[in-house]
Amino acid sequence: MVKQTAGRTQLGGFAPKFAELNDDVLFGEVWSREDKLSPKLRSIVTVTTLVAKGLVDSSFEYHLISAKENGVTRTEMAEILTHVAFYAGWPNAWAAFRMAVKVYGAEAPEDEVDFAPMFGVGTFNSAYAQYFKGNSYLNPLTDPKTQGIGISNVTFEPGCRNNWHIHHATQGGGQMLICTDGRGWYQEWGKEPQELTPGSVVYIAPGVKHWHGAAANTWFAHIAFEVPGEGCSNEWLEPVEDDAYPQE
Ligand code: MN
Repeated sequence: MVKQTAGRTQLGGFAPKFAELNDDVLFGEVWSREDKLSPKLRSIVTVTTLVAKGLVDSSFEYHLISAKENGVTRTEMAEILTHVAFYAGWPNAWAAFRMAVKVYGAEAPEDEVDFAPMFGVGTFNSAYAQYFKGNSYLNPLTDPKTQGIGISNVTFEPGCRNNWHIHHATQGGGQMLICTDGRGWYQEWGKEPQELTPGSVVYIAPGVKHWHGAAANTWFAHIAFEVPGEGCSNEWLEPVEDDAYPQE
């Protein structure tokens, strides 16, 4: 549930009913109905409405901060305000952009992940960086030592992909990929690349040479885990060169 106390803090003495409606109904009930509409979409609707009304004061700043926390990325916010400008008015968008720059920063930091995947970005995937072209991020979701299976979320920046590789096993084994966010590619040696979008599930049989990664201009995330087996190992091979990598 979204917890909000601004009403009581600022107006509890002057307008206790308004404070109660603000904190308990607007935020406590409407904003909290996450099963009906996600907080991210509610933030987008709210930001859009405030810009359309020309309200870019401290409450707008609060809603920008909250939009960022709810997963609206820098690129998405820039696109939202650009789109809204045509419907809400150019000067309104200008004013909103000034506040957005204050909240998001004028320039993207070099290491900024401009993407908010469902299962979290985790940290830079330094352990496997030598087998990847571009930056990837790893978020372990389970502990294989105590929970029997290691499931991780892997996030790829646009253009990032891993080298050709093979998941070996003497019995069972292989890998499962479950795409959750963005758009990417999976390719088996000698076959056409296949596009991965949220909901795509790929089973990679042991012994099959393949690669997976983001599309050229899109962030991408998939959950990955090794299918349980015996004698499992990974064999990392050559990089996927630009002329073989889909440019779309
Ligand atoms: Mn693989």
